Amino acid sequence: MTKVKVSGSCHCGKIKINATLIEGKVIACHCTDCQISAGGPFRVIVQSNGEDFEITGGAAEYVKTSADSGNHRIQGFCGTCGSSLYACDLNKNLFNIRAGCLENGSEFSPKVHIFGGSSPFWLKEIGKSSWLEKGPGSKQMEFD
Ligand SMILES: [Zn+2]
Ligand SMILES: [Zn+2]
Repeated sequence: MTKVKVSGSCHCGKIKINATLIEGKVIACHCTDCQISAGGPFRVIVQSNGEDFEITGGAAEYVKTSADSGNHRIQGFCGTCGSSLYACDLNKNLFNIRAGCLENGSEFSPKVHIFGGSSPFWLKEIGKSSWLEKGPGSKQMEFD
């Protein structure tokens, strides 16, 4: 099994993440908790075991939340810039790392979408919208 090493950081760069991922675990979560805390329609996560996950540069701040299942979770974030970094169980055995804070985060294509029932209807039609390469007025993108 190939080991995929990743690194990343929060927006301000204070907190760095180094991890080795569990192969094939790329999940898009559309639950309302992820929508609220990410401020978007879904969140993409990759997974790492606790012993393969390392934070450097400073301690992450965290809050404890409880999921619908009743499970308690630790949600780690940067106390300086507020970037969301990871979530894990209270024993820190399994880390869900926010793919968006990884250097090559956009390369991770979700293998499964969970909580699709709370996904906004327009997400399934996202390719039909107007896509611009950069900001307003930039080049129109073409899809096959
Ligand atoms: Zn930060
Ligand atoms: Zn979620």
